[in-house]
Amino acid sequence: MTTIVLDAGHGGHDPGAQGHGLVEKNVALRIARGVRDGLQSKYDVDVRMTRDSDKFVELSERADIANRINADLFVSFHHNAAGGSGFETFVFPGTRRSKTGEMQDAIHDKLMAFYGPRGIRDRGKKEANFAVLRETDMPAVLIENLFLDHAGDAALLKQVNTIDSIIAASVMGIADALDLQPRAGSLPENSLPAIGGKGKVVAGGQEAEGFIIEDRLYVPVRFVSEALGARVSYDNQTKTATITK
Ligand SMILES: [Zn+2]
Repeated sequence: MTTIVLDAGHGGHDPGAQGHGLVEKNVALRIARGVRDGLQSKYDVDVRMTRDSDKFVELSERADIANRINADLFVSFHHNAAGGSGFETFVFPGTRRSKTGEMQDAIHDKLMAFYGPRGIRDRGKKEANFAVLRETDMPAVLIENLFLDHAGDAALLKQVNTIDSIIAASVMGIADALDLQPRAGSLPENSLPAIGGKGKVVAGGQEAEGFIIEDRLYVPVRFVSEALGARVSYDNQTKTATITK
């Protein structure tokens, strides 16, 4: 099974970058967790985190976690600071022209597809001798999602939709990088799947509209459930609808 290690930068006594009320270690962890959940919900993959709480993990230990399980890809999530704005990704020097660079391209391009239309500057696909890139034995990509101390970047990162979109784009990029095939029954891979037409559902004698996406009819779960006398609760945090009879 394909194994992916997600690395939320910093943690514990090391907050990383800070600005406009945002703290790098917290935002990075939120994104890494979302990417883990997104990957696991759509693909048959083994996803591990170098940290899944606010704790400090040495850089070498982060690399060791991935090396010990012979991971296929290591992705590190960070946010920039100290004069600048925009988005950039890093791989180890000399690996731009290898498989690692191709994986960087896949991840970088999916994220820029989100950032570009929002006027975010593409700072480029770069190389740097960072410890987690140097000490990992597998392709490793480090992502710098915007500058926390830049007013415009920070304002964008404070929007819930932005975090969700960064998560979705990262999932798509990683899936693209590793050529992952979605599990049967999972939603289409694109965050905005094309609607192939409308359909309808009849439940308990009532009708509602639905959409056809990739030959499957999607209908409103609350309508169907309540029409059949069931109750629906929705958890906005996990985006999970639970139907009870
Ligand atoms: Zn950082």
